Amino acid sequence: MSGDEFDLIRRYFTQQAVARSDVLLGVGDDAALLRVGSLADLAVCMDTLVAGVHFPEQTPPAAIGHKALAVNLSDLAAMGAEPAWATLALTLPARDDHWLDEFARGFFALATQYNVQLVGGDTTRGPLSVTVQAHGLLPHGTALRRSGARPGDRVYVTGTLGDAGLALHLRQVAGSALRARFEFPQPRVGIGVALHGLASAAIDISDGLLADLGHLLETDALGAVIEVDALPRSPAFLEVIDAPGIGRSPLYYELPLAAGDDYELCFTVPPEHCAALEQSLGRFDCRYTAIGTIEATPGIRCVRAGGEPYQPAATGYVHFREDPDD
Ligand code: ADP
Ligand code: MG
Repeated sequence: MSGDEFDLIRRYFTQQAVARSDVLLGVGDDAALLRVGSLADLAVCMDTLVAGVHFPEQTPPAAIGHKALAVNLSDLAAMGAEPAWATLALTLPARDDHWLDEFARGFFALATQYNVQLVGGDTTRGPLSVTVQAHGLLPHGTALRRSGARPGDRVYVTGTLGDAGLALHLRQVAGSALRARFEFPQPRVGIGVALHGLASAAIDISDGLLADLGHLLETDALGAVIEVDALPRSPAFLEVIDAPGIGRSPLYYELPLAAGDDYELCFTVPPEHCAALEQSLGRFDCRYTAIGTIEATPGIRCVRAGGEPYQPAATGYVHFREDPDD
């Protein structure tokens, strides 16, 4: 295996003989965009969760059902699409009716919340793995993409960062607030739709802020300055990180910057739209925070509140590496 998963995808799956005119956006963004009529575009995405890789084997099945759909709705949210349909491919080691009841309960609770109908799939026997494909709609030509940011645009994130990473780091048990962020991520569907006409680019944070913001920047060869003290941290996160007698852990910066699994949105907004954006997002029961600014020089520069540079230790999760020990 050479290079990371993005190199693999580029190398084997981006060169093909077919280039249809109704494909507005193919491989490389949070979802593909397909033109299906004169009014609407179709956004299509797919994500797989593998036991032992994306969730610990003992994860409650309701959480697996929820998360398998949630990570896809998060990709649709990053395009600004309204979710509509899903298909589900399930590979199970054996039939277990209690497991399936709970899995379906988690899946359909979220599907109902966002008016998503399951319209097909596939069921096979093998090591536990769950693949969901989600389809969403948006008015023609209005999708948010990873490309489109410009120097001077403000960088925002929804919600709080680092909670899921801290839950994993502490091996937190089910039921804690941090563990719930890892097991039941909330896709920011309404906010994604509300970004139409205001945001210049968007991505969802699945692999960590630095890694995913990096993808957004690389499409236009841009950079960003990130204010690491401004990163939004939850009360549950701060309670653990600032535990009395222990002092502030380096994880205070590292987890919000580099841990994955939060499924918040990261988006950029031209300065002239910031006031309208903040007014529009005020109606959601979800915080949003300005964390930095797009720059013309490529690369991500992290700075502390006083302006001094901060050098992050890690940059995000990579599935395939050149050297597995690195
Ligand atoms: P995300 O982090 O949003 O889940 P991925 O890292 O899975 O995205 O994929 C990056 C891009 O490559 C996406 O546009 C995805 O649709 C595309 N992609 C991933 N795997 C394949 C594949 N095997 N064939 C074609 N396209 C792929
Ligand atoms: Mg994504």
